[in-house]
Amino acid sequence: MSRREEILTEMGLAPRWKLRGRVASDPKEQRWIALKKAVPACTACGLHKGRAQTVFGVGDEQADWMLVGEAPGAEEDRLGEPFVGQAGRLLDSMLAALGMKRGENVYIANVLKCRPPGNRNPEPEEVARCTPHLVEQIALIEPKLIVAMGRFAAQTLLDTDATIASLRGRVHRYAGVPLVVTYHPAYLLRNLPDKSKAWEDLLFARKTLRNA
Ligand code: URA
Repeated sequence: MSRREEILTEMGLAPRWKLRGRVASDPKEQRWIALKKAVPACTACGLHKGRAQTVFGVGDEQADWMLVGEAPGAEEDRLGEPFVGQAGRLLDSMLAALGMKRGENVYIANVLKCRPPGNRNPEPEEVARCTPHLVEQIALIEPKLIVAMGRFAAQTLLDTDATIASLRGRVHRYAGVPLVVTYHPAYLLRNLPDKSKAWEDLLFARKTLRNA
């Protein structure tokens, strides 16, 4: 090690200094880099025109749990992170009740990476154009369990028109990965009695992962 490298190492700077000129050689790392470039540059549907920014996803890229929601809302569009508004606070408290924390063995993403205007429902064309980003995210994370929160996540990942009520309480599969369906946190904010059902779903999800 040169004197310069020794000094940088002592200062705790060597890894960063080395990283700067490093070219990703791992194919998975290259795919992450490509995806993280593709999403903010995406103009595949009209939603790009109204976004402040894309909302890629957040958390542990090696997580066992992957939670999938619908689309960014106003706060998410402003901050660039999924589930940071009121629904997100409910999600965080449900995770906390399971002894889990955003970012620790959990990855959170949405079907759509851009905010639909006025928080309207995603349109089929928008879902179709955006889904390849989510598909690649799931392929890269390789979660052991997917929790689809709400109709759009469940119907998109399971390629079905079935209702949440009919999909709950069973283990489905997405590309071989166990998938559990639950209500969307924003729906729970409007339908408080269903919170207990969502809690059952999360306990079921945890049991499914433990048995996987
Ligand atoms: N609702 C979602 O589906 N996703 C978010 O990120 C926020 C609210």
